Amino acid sequence: MTDASRTLVPHWIDGREAPSATGAAPTRTGEVYDPATGRVVRHVAFATAADVDAAVAAATRAFPAWRDASLAERARTLFRFRELMAARADVLADAITAEHGKTRSDAQGEVARGLEVVEFACGIPHLLKGGYSARATSQVDVHSLRQPLGVVGIISPFNFPVMVPCWFFPIAVATGNTVVCKPSEKDPSPLLLVARLWAEAGLPDGVFNVVHGDAEAVDRLLEHPDVRAVSFVGSTPVARHVHATASAAGKRVQALGGAKNHMVVLPDADIDLAADAAVNAGFGSAGERCMAISVVVAVGSVADRLVPAIAERIGDLRVGDGRTDPDMGPLVTGAHRDRVVGYLDAGVTAGATLVVDGRRHAVDGDASGFWLGPTLFDHVQPDTALYRDEIFGPVLSVVRVGTYDEALALVNAGAYGNGTAIFTNDGRAASRFEREVEVGMVGINVPIPVPMAYYSFGGWKESLFGDLHAHGTDGVQFFTRGKVVTTRWLDPRDGGVDLGFPRTD
Ligand code: NAD
Repeated sequence: MTDASRTLVPHWIDGREAPSATGAAPTRTGEVYDPATGRVVRHVAFATAADVDAAVAAATRAFPAWRDASLAERARTLFRFRELMAARADVLADAITAEHGKTRSDAQGEVARGLEVVEFACGIPHLLKGGYSARATSQVDVHSLRQPLGVVGIISPFNFPVMVPCWFFPIAVATGNTVVCKPSEKDPSPLLLVARLWAEAGLPDGVFNVVHGDAEAVDRLLEHPDVRAVSFVGSTPVARHVHATASAAGKRVQALGGAKNHMVVLPDADIDLAADAAVNAGFGSAGERCMAISVVVAVGSVADRLVPAIAERIGDLRVGDGRTDPDMGPLVTGAHRDRVVGYLDAGVTAGATLVVDGRRHAVDGDASGFWLGPTLFDHVQPDTALYRDEIFGPVLSVVRVGTYDEALALVNAGAYGNGTAIFTNDGRAASRFEREVEVGMVGINVPIPVPMAYYSFGGWKESLFGDLHAHGTDGVQFFTRGKVVTTRWLDPRDGGVDLGFPRTD
């Protein structure tokens, strides 16, 4: 065991680092890899149910005071956190690259998008303004308010270790809740840095907690009677489990799942711009994005020009250690890389044309890294696993269809509905697509239509279980519950017994 691999990523409970609830060494740990070298660089503590209970207890203790803190105080804490996060953006980005493998500039982009939600949450006094109706009926006023829920759980995936938690915790904290986060065990360190920033920003102990681990920690959060709501992001099977379990336990839950995003290219589209977009959105972050484009739906004869244009661009992509800022880094683990490679052989067996084989791509990096270059398939058939499954790697499939209607029917028949895009210069076709497509986030000549923080992020169908999407006004609604207050200041002339149902006059 090297010194580095002995380093332990601890939990963050009640404002301090803790290897376990008791302070003793954790009973279970996981390995954390540097994907660019394939080596174990540290271990991460896996929370037991008792560790989760300790974090929830700290959050429960912190809740009354944080709930009662003024809006001004909460907003100022958010502002201080925003300044610290912006100042340490590079440190956070480097921590992401070290454990996820994505390129430095991609990691910097992730932090910047997470910061946008923090900035949105700084406006919480405005966002929490209720309604007021003076003299709703004679001598009666009505007003509404929204109040925090209590302790909320946030469970996040490996592919955005900072941005995805940021979709939730800034709004949860700003609205007066206390939080227990469970980041992915594959890249746990960045969220620990975030916890330290909160402490530096003056957030009271116990308001923001982090526990690490696997299903054991998640399942305890889902069952814990003091956890009022759960925000989850990850693969669809786990999202379904989280939604069902947390709902059955009486919690409010939003569970964002997997994706298989289509980019429709109409014959009138600019081929060079469409090819650029397909390559950027297909292979950015090695395809490990829930908004990655994994299927190009080429309408009419467009594929004859588009496929060579994509292949040419792939040839120029530099694959290597994310720290040297190539175009694309490694995949997150060796097991995941091997799973993705399995789709290459399966695709060929299923009759698709392997135009570019990522296994042959030159790599500038350690031979033990979890490498796979960008792969392009043409003539992919919709009844194959290559088309249907979420591969979550640098594999782009081209499906050829004859008409816009066939393209739309294909997209709408998909199990997922996270993101989609149409590339065209025809405004009428774009506006039809916007209305007719059954997907939560739509791009018109924009391949990765991730909404701004003040809109809400979320897909349809198998991509989201629950009603409310992440951040934006949906986020504020999710982390608060409404109350309506009806007021009358009594006057002697209002007296008298009347058993009738109150009338509005
Ligand atoms: P994952 O489902 O394996 O893990 C997500 C979280 O759930 C992690 O914290 C993990 O520890 C935990 N977990 C894993 N298995 C569990 C189980 N059996 N029971 C309880 N908890 C469990 O996902 P991942 O591989 O980390 O991330 C990639 C997936 O996330 C992809 O499917 C991707 O599309 C999805 N994702 C979706 C969105 C979105 O907005 N819809 C955003 C990012 C990622």
